[in-house]
Parts: sequence; C-alpha cells; structure tokens
Amino acid sequence: MQNVTKQTEAFRHYMKRMKGFEEAAGLLYWDMRTGAPRKGIEARSEVVGMLSAEVFKMSVAPEMGEFIGYFQQPEIAAELDEVTKRSIAECAKDYERSKRVPAELYEEYVALTSQAETIWEEAKTKADFAMFAPYLERIIDFNKQFIELWGAGAHKYDTLLDMYEPGITVAQLDPLFAGLRERIVPLLREIQQSPHQPDVSLISQSFPKEQQKQFCLYMLQQIGYDFDAGRLDESSHPFATGLNLGDVRITTRYAEDDMSGALFGTIHEFGHALYDQNISSELAGTVLCNGASMGIHESQSRFWENIVARSKPFWRKYFAPLQRHFPQQFGRVQQEDYYRAVNHVQPSLIRTESDELTYNLHVMVRYELEKAIFSNQMKTADLPVAWNDKYKEYLGVVPPHDGVGVLQDVHWAAGLFGYFPSYALGNMYAAQLTNVIRRDIANFEALIEAGEFAPIRQCLHRHIHQHGKMLTPAELLMRVSGQTLRADELVDYLTTKYKEIYKIS
Ligand code: ZN
Repeated sequence: MQNVTKQTEAFRHYMKRMKGFEEAAGLLYWDMRTGAPRKGIEARSEVVGMLSAEVFKMSVAPEMGEFIGYFQQPEIAAELDEVTKRSIAECAKDYERSKRVPAELYEEYVALTSQAETIWEEAKTKADFAMFAPYLERIIDFNKQFIELWGAGAHKYDTLLDMYEPGITVAQLDPLFAGLRERIVPLLREIQQSPHQPDVSLISQSFPKEQQKQFCLYMLQQIGYDFDAGRLDESSHPFATGLNLGDVRITTRYAEDDMSGALFGTIHEFGHALYDQNISSELAGTVLCNGASMGIHESQSRFWENIVARSKPFWRKYFAPLQRHFPQQFGRVQQEDYYRAVNHVQPSLIRTESDELTYNLHVMVRYELEKAIFSNQMKTADLPVAWNDKYKEYLGVVPPHDGVGVLQDVHWAAGLFGYFPSYALGNMYAAQLTNVIRRDIANFEALIEAGEFAPIRQCLHRHIHQHGKMLTPAELLMRVSGQTLRADELVDYLTTKYKEIYKIS
C-alpha cells in the first residue's frame, strides 16, 4: 500500500510537470496571438513547438510506460482512487497511440502539415486547388497509415473521430446527421420563402472599436465571467485558452462595420472559458483537467452564444443597455427588429460566417466528404466538385471558386480530419442540455430576462464543468439527461425559434 501511495505521488508529480510545460506553451502562444512584436513571432513559435514537443516526449517516455504498467496491474488498480485510475487510462490511450507511430514518420508528418498550411494559405488566396492538392493527398495518405497503425473500428473514419469525440462512430453519426438534415433542409426552404424577412441592414453600421470593447466587457460582467481568473484581449482568430484553473483567457475580434461578430464571439469564448474555470480543483494538475471532448466543449460555447444570447428574453433585458452603449446606431431601432436581425438565416458559402441553423449543414458537407475519403470512395482530385455538389444539395448555393469552397478551412491542411463533426455535436449536446436545465430550474427564461445567470452557471457546473475529463461524452450525457445523443432536441429548438422569427405557421 505504501508503495502505491508513493507511486501515485510520483505519477501525479509527473503529470503536473507535463501540465506545467503545457501551460508555458499556452501562455507563449497566447502572447504570440495577442500582442507580441511581429519580429519576434518566428522565434516564439519555435519555442512553442519545443515546449509542446517536451509534453509529447513525456507522454511516450519509458517512465510513462512504467507508470502505466504498474498501475494497470489488477491488484494495484483495485487500490487506486478514481482520479488516478482515470488519469492512467487517459495517459495509456495516448501512450499506446503514439507508440504505434514510428518517430520518424510522425516528424515527417508534422513537417508536412506545417508546410501545407503555408501552401494552403496561398492556394486559398489564389483559389488554386491544384496547388494544394499534392500536399492534401499526402496528408490523407499519412492519416490512412495512422489508422492502420492505431487500428480501425467498423469504419476507418471512426479512428479519427475518436481523437476529438471519444467513443463516437460513423454508425451513430449517420442517422443523427440524416435526421437533422431531413428536417433542417425543408425548414430552410420555408424560411427562404417567408415574406417576413428581417431587416439586416440595421446591424451593418459603423461601430468604433473602443465602444464595442466596452460593451463586450459589460456583457461579460453581466453573464458572470470571472475577471480574477481571466481577461479579454484581441486577436485575429478568437480563442479561449485555459492555462490553469485560475487563468482562463479569451480573445475576440472587432469588425467596425458590424459589432455582432465581436459580441457573439466574445460570449462564445466565454462559454468555453466558464467550463475551464470551473473544473473541480481535485483535477488540477492532472490530464483530466480538460473538457470531456471537443463536442462537449463546443456545447458550452454554443449554449451561451446561441441559446442564451440570441434569445428573446436576453434582448428584452439587454437591448436597452445596447442602445445606451450605441445611441447613434440603435437609438431608433426596435428591440424586436434587432432580435430578428441577429437571428437572420442566410445560406452562405462560408462556415465561420454562417447562422445558427445552416451551420450544421456546413459541418455535414465536410463530414460526408471525409467519410468518403477514408473509405476510399473519393480521391483528392474529386474534392472540389464533390464539395460544390454537396453545397448545392444541402444549402442551395454553389461556390464561384475554390477559395470560398473546398479551400476555405485550414483544418485539412493541419491534418484535422474527424474534427468537424464536433461542431454540430456541440449544438446537439447544447439543445439536450438546455432541456435538462429547464427541468432543473423551472424559470430558465425568466432568469435570462432578469439577467440572473448564477443559477444557470451553477447548473452547468454541477452537470458538466466540475467533471472535467472524468467521464466520456456518452457517460456525461447519460448521467445528465438519462439519454443518449439525439438530434430531436436540436431540431425542435430550431424549428420553434425560426418559425416564430419568420412567422411560419
Ligand atoms: Zn468554440
């Protein structure tokens, strides 16, 4: 027993060192994206790379192998506390996976993706898919090799999905996404045919950056961002970064011709940050001090951004403060018109600019293509045409060129296959979770309208945040809602909301 205690301490210390390197890399990354002098960026990104490599080395080091071997002996495992047991399982999963890929192969892959990102950027600007295609082809080949090395499930793509959403499979996603699509696509057609279109011109006006920043800070204060454990800065791509439980920072981007990007983007990142600030302190310094998955994390940001901040009760409370902050722009605007404008639906070409409804369709295009690639039903060269066909089928729009089509996202250049579904899963989880919150606190809407968010935050903390990565997404969802993942809640939520906005009977 004494030896177990000693080994547990040694293992905890080992994890804490890994987390220390991660924190250092995270802070340097944050600095690089928020204000570091331009001339220092190249050297800085090299240092970020070095620190990340240290974390990776520790995760596959012989020392880690010894910890895993020791703690996984049945008689030792029986004596372990839950946090250590789960941490070991998490480390073992990474360890096994990394061990199966020869170091030289992995290094070659890292170099390829970093080169590919640069090429992709140029190819996107020039709308030249042929320029990017050879790199993409090699990245896909590498991923196919990794799948073989890691071991495939029923569908080869499952192996990639599991990296971002542990446990999720094509067999589960296919019916979920089909169910979502079958009801969203007709709803979208009805919306487009509705004579009651919101006036969107009222949101594109001139908004000085400083004023926007003041309003974002005010909003964060209102919804309960802990500024003693975080801060708001500016970056070209907004993000949240959890350095440790007491330091979770967010960034936003201000466009001077439309303030909604900064506002809803800030609230989105707040949702991520609230999660990371509220993981149980028992998990601090362990590999479990993280979100349960990409999808669960995204459910938190989408909950605050869409379900709370794009709701009617929210604007009943906050439209007056908005008018006070922007008297010239919104002084004469009606609250209802503003609410409808920030919720307008417009099928578009670009995922990151899409609305709450069509966003899911953008994700499904990528899902279908990735699935086809990894089941060898599609070649790299076929992607641009397949992309355009899917956009026409799901969204009714066709990209005029590949720069706004197949080349629009950086994910594939970075090798992030299996990542996109998390975005749509986040919306599904969020809708399911909202129904749980509604059961828990009967006056959910009234609380939003009163600007009283503490009970909502506590509910999220109890159900989701505190658990960190102790539970898998499926376990967490089952525990919270008593159900498996479903598309119905999201579809019902979207249908009710948009039928009202577009006056569809
Ligand atoms: Zn997000």
